[in-house]
Amino acid sequence: MKNFGIVKLFAKKLIFVLFLAGCGNQQIIKTDNLETVKSLCDEADSQTLVIFDMDNVLTESTERAFHADLYPQIKDVVDEFRNHVKKLPPSEQEKLRGAQWEIPVCLVDESMPELIESLQNRDVKVLMLTANPHGKVANVDSIENLCDSRLKNLGINFEKSWLSVDIKRGFNNELTIFHKGEIFTLESKEIALKRFFEHLPEYNFRKIIFLDDKRKNLEKVKKLAEKQNKTFIGIEYLRVFTKKRPKTDLFFIKNRFKQLIN
Ligand SMILES: [Mg+2]
Repeated sequence: MKNFGIVKLFAKKLIFVLFLAGCGNQQIIKTDNLETVKSLCDEADSQTLVIFDMDNVLTESTERAFHADLYPQIKDVVDEFRNHVKKLPPSEQEKLRGAQWEIPVCLVDESMPELIESLQNRDVKVLMLTANPHGKVANVDSIENLCDSRLKNLGINFEKSWLSVDIKRGFNNELTIFHKGEIFTLESKEIALKRFFEHLPEYNFRKIIFLDDKRKNLEKVKKLAEKQNKTFIGIEYLRVFTKKRPKTDLFFIKNRFKQLIN
């Protein structure tokens, strides 16, 4: 049985190597399996940058109502809630956004911290890139400090990869900041990344591996990699949609959103 497992693992790896060889220098693959991600990271070296999206890749809400896999089933009430929020005065909108940030998060995969640490131990740079604002939102004084301490409490430390790097002065602006190995941006992700590379000319990354749950982010960063002649492996990581969840009472969940509106 043990031998069969090894053969299966080897076959999987071989399929990958053949797949990658046949796909040219920039490609995007879709997976919900962390083992596949690990295989793709096997070849990463000190000239590789591995980038992780935060929401729905590293972390997700601890509250079932906000899990991405439920959305298609409760779309009507969620959309109603979102439209309701848009009509509120700005101060009320901010309060609701702040309340969302106060809900604790958990890991999407329990073994993601291990993968990130093993990359860091091999001298591979890892970066977090999230399409979230920075600074104060309602009662949360600093979104970037909140996210960084949450990730650290869950065993992920991006700062470790960038201890000797300080790009804040030139790089940070109202829309985008680099904070302890994490980029928070309201620009498009590839625009933030392009600027990031411009501010770090001493790091000539030859390869980018980028995990995100949104295809459009991967497509845009792929284009940037093509222009800059970098090898690119985009991983459309869909674990949040397929992982095993407790049976969910949709009636209760829908009521939860309705209560938020009233
Ligand atoms: Mg995401």
